[in-house]
Amino acid sequence: MSITSVICPSASDAARVLASNNRARFFGGGTLLMRSINEGDQSFDTIVRINDPIMMQIQNAGRQLIIGAGVTMSGLLSNRDAQFLASAARSVGGPAIRNMATVGGNLFAPSPYGDFTTALIALDGIATLADGSTVPLADFLLKRKNDHTSIVTQISVNRPNSADEFHFLKVSRVKPKGIAVMTFAACLPRQGGRLQNVRVAAGAMAPTPVRMVSVEQALEGQGLDAGTIEAAVGVVSHDLAAPTDAIATSWYRAEVAPVHLRRLLIGASGHTGGY
Ligand SMILES: Cc1cc2nc3c(=O)[nH]c(=O)nc-3n(C[C@H](O)[C@H](O)[C@H](O)COP(=O)(O)OP(=O)(O)OC[C@H]3O[C@@H](n4cnc5c(N)ncnc54)[C@H](O)[C@@H]3O)c2cc1C
Repeated sequence: MSITSVICPSASDAARVLASNNRARFFGGGTLLMRSINEGDQSFDTIVRINDPIMMQIQNAGRQLIIGAGVTMSGLLSNRDAQFLASAARSVGGPAIRNMATVGGNLFAPSPYGDFTTALIALDGIATLADGSTVPLADFLLKRKNDHTSIVTQISVNRPNSADEFHFLKVSRVKPKGIAVMTFAACLPRQGGRLQNVRVAAGAMAPTPVRMVSVEQALEGQGLDAGTIEAAVGVVSHDLAAPTDAIATSWYRAEVAPVHLRRLLIGASGHTGGY
């Protein structure tokens, strides 16, 4: 099958092309789309790219970092302002994949992929779409369209106040670049020793990466002590619908999720002695 490549000067032009041709697909880094092409996927025959620098920029905007959807994992790793996202970016595939895999593409990668997106959710990520509208990432993912016409141009995230506020844990069977059994990310700001504006997200534990609202509620306003951690771990299943796939069964994921969330929270508490 021959593929037509269309390069557009802006996201709105690209959105028009996608809307007018249901056999067109937006092309990020191509780590998944090229695989589909090579495997003979007949559902599309046109790829659409955007030649707009905004897609490739990482900008500081006060408390926020604005990341172009076309920025790759390697691009993030080499950017000084994005180092709080380094553990999440480094968790995506091996070096060759990271050189091509984009932040925008990660939002659309099917489970169990989406490790980087899990981190973005925990940092209150907001997606900007081609028409300039914005939507919280967690909501966007819940309604993630299969119509192939939405283009994300940028994602903004809240920068953690300090290095020990943001925590990321990817659990995989093959180190260092295996596919996720599950991924957790947590932003745990503290004021006067109490957790404030907590965000916790999980990847590979539902059809898309999700916010863990029940876990957040168990943590909010509390000190990060043994009792709070057990209360949070006790509701881990409330927000999740773990899938079965080639990596792990739903049963296994549900069994080990409390263990790994506890591990992340204990690490964040800095008090391992009581456990
Ligand atoms: C060997 C291998 C290992 C991998 N390991 C991991 C891993 O460890 N963790 C992980 O999370 N993922 C992994 N992936 C999946 C994938 O590489 C990443 O999720 C990557 O971020 C996808 O981005 P991309 O730019 O390559 O997407 P593409 O292949 O370009 O596109 C994927 C989908 O996203 C859509 N899309 C891309 N950009 C946008 C945009 N800006 N707006 C709207 N739609 C868009 C495309 O239309 C397409 O439907 C792996 C893939 C491979 C092949």
